[in-house]
Amino acid sequence: MKYFPLFADLRGRRVLVVGGGEVAERKIRLLLEAGARVEVVAPELNEWLSGRWATDAARRDPGASAAASLAWIATQFEESQLRGAVLAVAATNDREVNAQVARAARAMELLANVVDDAELSGFIVPAIVDRSPLVIAVSSGGTAPVLARLLRERIEALVDESVGTLASLLERWRSRIKAALPDVARRRRFYESAVRGEAALHVRRGRTADAERWLARELDRPNAAETGSVALVGAGPGDPGLLTLRALRALQEAEVILHDRLVSEEVLALARRDATRIEVGKRARGCSVAQERIHELMLEHARAGRRVVRLKGGDPFIFGRGGEELEFLVAHRIPFEVVPGITAAIACGAYAGIPLTHREHASSVRFVTAHRSDSLSARDWAALAAERQTLCLYMGVSGLTEVGANLIAHGRRGDTPVAIVENGSRPDQRVTLARLDELGDLAARGGLRTPAMVMVGEVASLAASLHWFGEEPRQWEALRRVA
Ligand code: SAH
Repeated sequence: MKYFPLFADLRGRRVLVVGGGEVAERKIRLLLEAGARVEVVAPELNEWLSGRWATDAARRDPGASAAASLAWIATQFEESQLRGAVLAVAATNDREVNAQVARAARAMELLANVVDDAELSGFIVPAIVDRSPLVIAVSSGGTAPVLARLLRERIEALVDESVGTLASLLERWRSRIKAALPDVARRRRFYESAVRGEAALHVRRGRTADAERWLARELDRPNAAETGSVALVGAGPGDPGLLTLRALRALQEAEVILHDRLVSEEVLALARRDATRIEVGKRARGCSVAQERIHELMLEHARAGRRVVRLKGGDPFIFGRGGEELEFLVAHRIPFEVVPGITAAIACGAYAGIPLTHREHASSVRFVTAHRSDSLSARDWAALAAERQTLCLYMGVSGLTEVGANLIAHGRRGDTPVAIVENGSRPDQRVTLARLDELGDLAARGGLRTPAMVMVGEVASLAASLHWFGEEPRQWEALRRVA
């Protein structure tokens, strides 16, 4: 190991930075965040540095060595300036000056960092993920900073923003936990269940008080069986790039994943390798796992202390029975969280080049399920047939003929543009453009595949010019004439 990793306490300590430009600024911002007393040597300061210097100078009362402050030595670098500093940073754009700083520091056995020059540096600064008080540092030892940054980005994506809060909370409880659990092994187990389980969940939900209640209760009964939890997660329409960071984190922590058939393989591939996957996909027709069975499975695994992810296509609260599942969890006192997903209508609009609203064409948008269109009354149809709105019909393929006829019967024009987006956002996405009065024909002879989103309204015609993903849209009229 060429470099010894360490975290230094710089609060109130003097750090000398040579250089007053952008590169220096980046280092100085970080040093100030860590509470250092920074002295910057430079004939001139850039805008941010001089602004900060001016505010600090106005605030400084003589004699007090305030933490986190910026002082300016407006000269060229001289060796004597290093005296009394714990670290030095050379950040000028003059290699000779940088080398001079490095040599002088070396002679005084002082650690100096030369920005972008590992050879001259006595210490290097890692890439960090800041979840203070938790900080993760990554370094390639100066060999491949780009690689270190890449890794940092991955970690940034994986570590929830709330872990800092969790770390502070556990810090506040440390002595109580130690007193209640003098045995080291038991204490470790306790911390593990706190950071993996319910305490972390409460903190993520923004309920620190609940996390504290949990800690208090568990300290009273450290041997009690743990309850698990359920995350109701939206998997989006298929393209794994449309997952939220939170969904990704939930998938990576899951022990059991109960997923719908609609969830794509590419999304499932991002889950923890050893997670148990159970397909509970509901199908429009044919066999399916009954809703009660899904409830039972959630309960069984959560009660066994497991972290369950209930993964649904699109968004769990849009035609996904997410509400029912949460009601069940609440009734059975299973802790849960909800992670929204990009719903099919939003994704299909984006990936087919169909803006759902548009100043000229549509001032509102409605998400409707056409699955049970027989349950719609004449009033419902009249409202759905209103002009200047976009209809996004979920589960619409089987009811296409009926939907078209009803909308026209209730006043929507027969030449209203319609787009059918099959497999939206997936590699096999296909978009068909038609008119409302062609829907019956399209349903009968279009060979439509599911899942498909039916979008009705003037905006649908924009796909012809705004499409950008996958195959070009096909025009039903032209196809029909050929057929
Ligand atoms: N909760 C889901 C919807 C479940 S209902 C969501 O928010 O997206 C299932 C219906 O969603 C399908 O019948 C289809 O109409 C639509 N759908 C889901 N994924 C789709 C996709 N990738 N492309 C087109 N339509 C999709």
